[in-house]
Amino acid sequence: MKIKSIKNLKNLAGKRVLLRSDFNVPLKNGEILEDYKIMRNLPTINFLLEQKCKIIVIAHLGNPKAGVFEEKFSLKPVAKYLDKKIKAKVRFVADTHGFAAGTAVMQMKSKEILFLENLRFYEGEKKNSAEFAKKLASLADVYVNDAFGTSHRADASVSAIKKYLPSYAGLLLENEVIHLEKIRKPKKPLVVIIGGAKLGTKIPLIKAFQKTAYRILVGGALANNFFAVHNYNIGRSLVDDESIKFARKLVKNHKNSNIVLPIDVMVGSKKNFWDAHAVPANKVGDKDYILDIGPKTVEFYKKYIFGAATVVWNGPMGMFEEKKFRHGTLSIARSMSLATDKKVFCVAGGGETVEALKMTKTTSHINWLSTGGGAMLSYLAGEKMPGLSEIVY
Ligand code: ADP
Ligand code: MG
Repeated sequence: MKIKSIKNLKNLAGKRVLLRSDFNVPLKNGEILEDYKIMRNLPTINFLLEQKCKIIVIAHLGNPKAGVFEEKFSLKPVAKYLDKKIKAKVRFVADTHGFAAGTAVMQMKSKEILFLENLRFYEGEKKNSAEFAKKLASLADVYVNDAFGTSHRADASVSAIKKYLPSYAGLLLENEVIHLEKIRKPKKPLVVIIGGAKLGTKIPLIKAFQKTAYRILVGGALANNFFAVHNYNIGRSLVDDESIKFARKLVKNHKNSNIVLPIDVMVGSKKNFWDAHAVPANKVGDKDYILDIGPKTVEFYKKYIFGAATVVWNGPMGMFEEKKFRHGTLSIARSMSLATDKKVFCVAGGGETVEALKMTKTTSHINWLSTGGGAMLSYLAGEKMPGLSEIVY
């Protein structure tokens, strides 16, 4: 595998670099709730500053309706935050490819950063429009993609753009690929831990690892679908028809499957006033909601984690947002952190997964924390990613 990295690029001084970054952070009333993604962008930005470039940052935030400006989707607060975290001055312009952006670029000096408005305010971005990509490209000399988290989508700023500028991978994107490649071609045994809410989004990953993983440990609401297929009572737990269908297929087609299900679960019965107790997975009551893996399962899964050479994790083991149902998820997080001391190579990714890991304050122990949820799953499943074509091959 080869990566066209900006590290190999010489004579960047004075060049205008169009940097596609992932600044899709949670915001509330203009306050940044979680800056982990912002911080992960700093190495590439600092590298380009050292090379004396003019940096033009393009990014998206949330899913605004194209053609409608809505303050809550503006990247202005993010630009302001970045300005505080970096030595260089960050100037924000509420435009992406029009006159204001063009003028601002013309006024730029080396080692300055221009931060443009949310790309998704414009229809061309999601439509992968050549026209839109061309306009963005006209602002710069070189294009760098550092937005791994968006690279599974065919959006103009990660896909079409590469037709119009010499294109390279940023340091974060390069590192994502290098680390995730170690999951695709793992030191064995490989243990995959998968949880979260919707089985549908995790199907490609399960399929990809059904043959190569030693075990796939299932948790979260995902497990409910398998319980349903085995005719266990799941009470009022979260399931969906499509997921059950898929679980049924998996169970039917793979008699000696490597999929492992929880042996016990934490249930609650009073919504929002949760009581919590552990029961065997086949003893769930009619009024119960399954909301976490149980303590026996935690111990059971831990053994797999410590016995592995490689572990990859996506999706919480339960509704960890609720205090009473976070033990399973946090235990998995802590076990992975400890396992890295024993030379187990551990990778985790996904919005909520990272949030849960942060609760344990052990993120620095994990070998790689991916900034991609969907993108990580897509990469691991071996799907073709529009944002990586031509720069990773
Ligand atoms: P990630 O963002 O890490 O990929 P997902 O988006 O797949 O994770 O799933 C996260 C969500 O799944 C969490 O908000 C969590 O509350 C929910 N969840 C996990 N287990 C359960 C469960 N048993 N019942 C209801 N919700 C669950
Ligand atoms: Mg999520």
